[in-house]
Amino acid sequence: MAKRDYYEVLGVGKDASEAEIKKAYRRLARKYHPDVAKDDPQAEEKFKEATEAYKVLSDPEARAKYDQFGHAAFDGQGMGAGGFDPFGGFGFEDLGDIFDAFFGGATRSERRRGPVRGTDLRYDVTLEFTEAAFGTTIEITVPRNETCPHCHGNKAEPGTPIVTCEVCGGSGSVRQERHTPLGRMINVVTCSRCQGEGKTFKQACSECHGRGVVHRRRQIKVNIPAGVEDGMRVRVPGEGEAGSRGGPPGDLYVYVRIKPHSFFRREGNDVVCEIPISFAQAALGDEIDVPTLDGKAKLKIPEGTQTGTVFRLRGLGIPGIHGRGRGDQLVAVKVVTPTRLTARQRELLREFAGLSGEDGSANGQQQQDKNLFRRMREAFGSQGRSE
Ligand SMILES: [Zn+2]
Ligand SMILES: [Zn+2]
Repeated sequence: MAKRDYYEVLGVGKDASEAEIKKAYRRLARKYHPDVAKDDPQAEEKFKEATEAYKVLSDPEARAKYDQFGHAAFDGQGMGAGGFDPFGGFGFEDLGDIFDAFFGGATRSERRRGPVRGTDLRYDVTLEFTEAAFGTTIEITVPRNETCPHCHGNKAEPGTPIVTCEVCGGSGSVRQERHTPLGRMINVVTCSRCQGEGKTFKQACSECHGRGVVHRRRQIKVNIPAGVEDGMRVRVPGEGEAGSRGGPPGDLYVYVRIKPHSFFRREGNDVVCEIPISFAQAALGDEIDVPTLDGKAKLKIPEGTQTGTVFRLRGLGIPGIHGRGRGDQLVAVKVVTPTRLTARQRELLREFAGLSGEDGSANGQQQQDKNLFRRMREAFGSQGRSE
């Protein structure tokens, strides 16, 4: 797109006076300033275009060059010798400043003057497996800024007056002079004496020294709900840092880590564990005691249980975090092969093995196992090895 003529952009004649140029720019800036024309997607471009035109035409030297050479006056010269780069180093904030200089600049600084909510705080805790399962109340010490109890956050010593800020005269903002390619510019910033509040104390609060907040290490009780999971966070409303200018405090977030348990493992709301049983218990069946989160529970091992079989103990898992239902405990049995046998045990096992080999009363499971042994022998080849 061809660059439009600066006079055309501002809608003024070639012989326009400085006042006319300024007036034309003021009208366009008011119309297209992005804070104003939020719904016009082209407003920002138009605002920049008008600002660029104004910047050149309001500078007598730049305007003379432009009148003589047109846009070519600034092409490729950058900020170099004699060159005048109409847009170099001229960020959008600066455009806003130009606008502020024209119109009093309250739009952005005023936004900072309202109540400000306090900052949220994060606290990390590590819980035991069972604490997380059933919930617990923990007491933590949180270092934080609290509203000063002496002045209640208004920063003045009680009984002493709060006066209009003498630096900004109560406006909350101050005008600063700045030098830009446009010449002298007025920049409007939040008053540093009163932080934009427009009023300040005559005598600072003796407790907080005029900060309005004091640092405290506060003991806070936090209820951790049953069923909390590793990595979850618990929100404690209003226990963060104090707000300012009458704003509410932030929240405290307690991030939960859960220590691994030496015996239990968690899968969702189920508790998983592995229980060793002897070969004899697996073969003959038994009733055993299993540790659970609620203490001992009985588990019936049926005759002929294979290693790896998983039994479900209903309702002995972890309570749901939303207070409904409870998971199960899943018990995987592991048949432990005996080691260091006595002579007598060895003798009995040999006898048992002998019987197993030609036992005519093989049930289905044993039949399957035999098939497995047979297939394995085949895999070894024809020379086959038997046990
Ligand atoms: Zn105070
Ligand atoms: Zn002030």
